[in-house]
Formats: sequence, C-alpha cells, structure tokens
Amino acid sequence: TYAVTGASGQLGRKIVQSLLDLHISPFDVIALARDTAKVEDLAALGVRTRTADYDQPETLTAALEGVDRLVLVSASEPGKRLPQHQAVISAAEAAGVQRIVYTSLLKADDTTNGLAPEHIATEEVLAASPVETTALRNSWYIENYTGQIGSYLEQGAIVGAAGDGLISAATRQDYAEAAAAAALADAVKPTYELGGTAFTLADLAATVSAVSGKAIGYTNVTVDELTAGMVGAGMPEGVASFWASIDGSIAVGDLHTESTDLADLIGRQPTPLADAVKAAL
Ligand code: NDP
Repeated sequence: TYAVTGASGQLGRKIVQSLLDLHISPFDVIALARDTAKVEDLAALGVRTRTADYDQPETLTAALEGVDRLVLVSASEPGKRLPQHQAVISAAEAAGVQRIVYTSLLKADDTTNGLAPEHIATEEVLAASPVETTALRNSWYIENYTGQIGSYLEQGAIVGAAGDGLISAATRQDYAEAAAAAALADAVKPTYELGGTAFTLADLAATVSAVSGKAIGYTNVTVDELTAGMVGAGMPEGVASFWASIDGSIAVGDLHTESTDLADLIGRQPTPLADAVKAAL
C-alpha cells in the first residue's frame, strides 16, 4: 500500500495519479490530506482517502496504518516544516512504514538557497530513521515561471537578479512521476538530484517571446534592486528580500544540476521549457 501526503496540493495529486498510471490499483493508494473534501476527485478514481494533518500528530498514526511506502511531500509553510516533517516520520516509524520518499531541494547540503535549512534538517531526521528513506532533491518547478507569463507579457520584460545562472527546472508532472517511480522501485539511492534541461532567465524570456510572438527581454538587476522593486509593488520587505536572495543563489548555480537522475527515474527526457510555456499559454 502506497500513501501520499499533501495529496490535495498541486504536486501530491499528480503523484497519486502517477501511481495509478504506473498500474498500481487505486485500492492500494491512499491520498492523505488535512481536509479530505479536497481530494474527493481522487476518491472518485477509487483511491482511498484519509485525514492527515501535520499539526495534529494524532491524525497521522491512524492515517499511516497499513502503509508500506509513503511519499512525504514537503510541507508548505516555511519555519514550521521541520516539526511537521518530524511528526510524519515518527508516525511512519510507529506504523511500520517500510520506505519514505521525501521531496527535498536540489543540492540541499551545498546551496545558499534560503529554503534549504529545513530540507537538510529533515534529511538528517530521515537518515537517522530505521526506515529506508530517499530524498528527491527537486530543483525549481517550471511552473514557478510559467505561472507568471501573464505578468511578463504585461510588463514586456522579465526582471530578475539571477544573472547567467542556469536553472534546471522541471515540471511538477515530471517530479511527480519521479516520486511515484521512487516509491515503486525495488531499490532506491539515499538521495537523487532532480532537474530538467537547464535555462537562464534570458533563455526563458527568449522562449516566452518565441512561443507568444511578443518580444520580451530579460532585465538583470542586483538583489537589492529586485528587493526594492518587489517592496514597491507592495510585498513586505522580509518576504521580498528572501525571494530576491534566492535569485542571488540561482546566479551562483544553486538550482543547476547536470545529474540525469530525473530522466533515469521517469524513463524519458524531462519536459522541455518550450513545451511547458506552450502549455501555459
Ligand atoms: P501546494 O501548496 O499546492 O501543496 C501543499 C500541500 O501541503 C497541500 O496539499 C497542503 O494541504 C499540504 N499541507 C500544508 N500544510 C499541511 C498540514 N499542516 N497538514 C497536512 N497537509 C498540509 O504545493 P505544491 O504541491 O506545488 O508543492 C509541494 C511542496 O513542494 C510544497 O509544499 C513545498 O514544500 C515545495 N515547493 C517546491 C517548489 C519548487 O520549485 N521546487 C515550489 C513550491 C513549493 P491543503 O491543500 O489543505 O493546503
């Protein structure tokens, strides 16, 4: 039996679907969500659903009963994630789960990306667990960019502080298929570095231009200028500087990998940027 946390989320529901696509019976798949009303569409596919709230550990023990392999999709509130992940891992140990597949961050142990510390701390908890565990260190989602195409076209430019930094982003669908494959595999490595074909933000601008037919360029600014721009657009200072600093980490290559782990797990090349841009338009 396979279970997926965060099944109501964008990645988690695709992981559930990917397990079905890999011919796992829906009866052997459990979609875990803090609000099962949000996974009724998955229940309609025959998948079992159970309540699992990271902040209510008592729900987790019951949720994981009978589960052999668990995909733990990382939680979504920075600052709260380590105790939340710890609660799931403890419950999985108590329930006799045999494998935990965790969605981490690319090069989590060697990156200046401000989101890394909670992932590394979680990986340490996993490494110390008696359960077999694997960390899928995902690079960026392409959707982080394709979700902004409307505003790029409106502004006529992409503004960032990532310089010539290469970004090995891949689609949520590709990462979801990789998570399902890692859940099913006979054996797993302790960590996988997952990323797609790398592009710079200038390449992104060129691709959006080519696909949309409207010329937009890439304007590179400093991290401080990017922060100021976001604050000017109404973002709180702390949030703006956090996200701008991530562009700084991209500039030094922190979201770039030459690993073929993603293609190896999904058995095909990751979705090209241009295809993802076309789909988003
Ligand atoms: P979503 O925000 O769509 O999904 C997050 C999921 O986590 C939802 O199902 C949400 O439930 C669930 N969740 C949050 N808090 C709790 C809780 N206390 N108890 C139980 N479930 C909870 O994110 P994505 O699916 O797009 O991404 C998955 C994860 O990947 C993110 O949570 C984040 O850690 C990471 N991420 C990575 C990015 C990247 O580029 N690599 C970009 C964005 C996120 P509910 O539906 O009830 O809110």
